[in-house]
Amino acid sequence: MPNENARPNEFEIINKYFAPLSGSEPGAFKLTDDAAIIDPPTGQSLVVTTDALVAGVHFFTADPAEDIAAKLLRVSLSDLASMGAEPAHYTLSIAVPEDLNSDWFETFSEGLAENQREFGVTLIGGDTVSTSGPLTLSLTAMGYIEKGMGLRRSKAKVGDSIWVSGTIGDGALGLLAVENKLADLSSDDCEYLRQRYRLPIPRTKLGQNLIGNAHAVIDISDGLVADLGHICETSGVGADVQIADIPLSKAANGALAENSALLDLILGGGDDYELLFTTEHSFAAAAEKIAAESGVTLTKIGEITNTGAIRLFDQNGQEHTPRQKGFTHF
Ligand code: ADP
Ligand code: MG
Repeated sequence: MPNENARPNEFEIINKYFAPLSGSEPGAFKLTDDAAIIDPPTGQSLVVTTDALVAGVHFFTADPAEDIAAKLLRVSLSDLASMGAEPAHYTLSIAVPEDLNSDWFETFSEGLAENQREFGVTLIGGDTVSTSGPLTLSLTAMGYIEKGMGLRRSKAKVGDSIWVSGTIGDGALGLLAVENKLADLSSDDCEYLRQRYRLPIPRTKLGQNLIGNAHAVIDISDGLVADLGHICETSGVGADVQIADIPLSKAANGALAENSALLDLILGGGDDYELLFTTEHSFAAAAEKIAAESGVTLTKIGEITNTGAIRLFDQNGQEHTPRQKGFTHF
């Protein structure tokens, strides 16, 4: 008897599961040609970013397939957000191990469909190969921005205010919660943190609203201190941060109250996908309005300096040296 739930072949994968995801984009030709043909809107630049996720390194094969789909798409959309781009399309390369069955593809493509709808993007191409190694996914997201308006890491100026969106540290704490390592925290708080880790929220609207308002922008994927470090390095500046001003969720505050050593994880841990940006002082007057329009809170946490170093100060004005460095990929 044929196994109904065996691994689908390459053409089934493309035609049955992925072609419907190209639906609203005529230039994708329902994934039946060799490539897609896209006309960028007049006066706009194409913004392109790629992220790869490998089973056993960035997620587990047994994770719900819709969660894998959501994270894959959202981490790339976060990169587009930090450039100020409006997301439009994506391509997807997938290396498929033997044991991935049609149920998995069904759930994975449904996850992509749901997230596509939420963020207004369509699948326009990709590649499908077999592997004897782990499931490997690579997604390239494309968006558009008015020519010359792209937001960069390198434009911070001495005297700028440093701002972050949302709350910081939830991603890294969420991974601890997934691993059941936050035993003293309430189950609601653990669930909140797990959800923040599992389902990053790309700050797409905020990125677009920062055009003309922010000098330097980055999305926090490696950790607050590491990503602020990337802005400082590329801009040739330093930064002073007031730790007490860093916005924390109720759950993160609870975790910190139980174990003050978690502060360094909050400062150094990755996976928040909030935006970190620098502005003129006068941005403060507009911050509340932009936050409301962007659907996320904004908090000032420090200032750009000419010291060339990042300094973190506690509420007593003492400098704090975190033990944890940011996430590095290898
Ligand atoms: P070729 O062998 O000419 O590269 P393929 O058979 O690999 O063509 O792909 C046929 C079409 O299906 C192309 O338009 C390609 O972009 C699309 N495609 C293949 N794999 C994927 C995928 N994983 N996701 C989206 N589109 C895909
Ligand atoms: Mg091919």
